[in-house]
Amino acid sequence: MAENLVTVKEVVLNNNCPVCYAKGSLLITFKQKVIETKFYKSITSEINHDINCKTCESAIYPVQWTNDIERVVDYQKRAFKPMATSTYIKKTSWIIITAVVLVAIAIVAVLFFM
Ligand SMILES: [Zn+2]
Repeated sequence: MAENLVTVKEVVLNNNCPVCYAKGSLLITFKQKVIETKFYKSITSEINHDINCKTCESAIYPVQWTNDIERVVDYQKRAFKPMATSTYIKKTSWIIITAVVLVAIAIVAVLFFM
């Protein structure tokens, strides 16, 4: 089973980086968890977000956030629209379901006509 975090949205924040103090270099990335197996693909409602600085390439963890960053993150979280959750059944599943149904019909038919 593969769990992928798909990047849904990236926004550059107009804040100073708490590590290197560069302005406008913080990038917040929203990711949504997608589970993919041989049989189905499912977009979950699980959202991750992280902040990275493009200038010093550090990950900015919540403990390093200033009040300003916290406010902007809060706003971005509210503005964020995730992908609609859904589950697709793949062709492999349909083949198995069809095969099972056909076998069941065959068994019933055999029992009925014996
Ligand atoms: Zn930085």
